[in-house]
Amino acid sequence: MKASRDSVVALHYILKVLGEQVESSRDGDQTLHVLLGHGQLIPGLESALEGREAGESFSVEVAPDDGYGERRDNAIQRVPKKYFKNAAKLKPGMATVLSLREGGQRAVTVHKVGMTTVDVDTNHPMAGKALNFDVELLEVREASAEELQHGHAHGPDTPSH
Ligand code: ZN
Repeated sequence: MKASRDSVVALHYILKVLGEQVESSRDGDQTLHVLLGHGQLIPGLESALEGREAGESFSVEVAPDDGYGERRDNAIQRVPKKYFKNAAKLKPGMATVLSLREGGQRAVTVHKVGMTTVDVDTNHPMAGKALNFDVELLEVREASAEELQHGHAHGPDTPSH
C-alpha cells in the first residue's frame, strides 16, 4: 500500500546538514515508527513520504519553512539551572533540552553558562537550516484504531497504553 495520511510507516533515516551527518536512526538501530498526518514529522518529510511504498529509498532536501522554521533574532533567554537535567555539564554551543514549566521539553542551544542561570538560544538547533534526509522506507501499514485515537504510531516495542 502507499503511504498517506493515517497510515503508519517504519523507516530508517540519515539527516545531513551541509553535507555533514548529524543524525542517523541506524545508530542503535532505532527504526522510526510514525503515524502520518498527525504532526509527528516535520512537514517536508511528511510530504516526501506521501505515496511511497515499502522498500523505497529516496533523498529529500527540506527547506527551513518545511522543517524547523527560520531562525528568530532575540531568541536568547535566561533560565535557572534547575530547568536542565544536565546543568553541570553545559557548555556554550551545546545542544540540550529544556524542561518547560507547563510540561514538555524544548530543544535549545547553550549560549552562556552563569553561576545559577544558563542563557539559551531558544531557536531550534535545526532552525534556518536546509535538511537533507536519506530515507529508507521499511514498512507501510494501516494504523490501528488505538493509534489513530492516540495520534501516534505504536512500534513493536511500544507497550499498549
Ligand atoms: Zn499510544
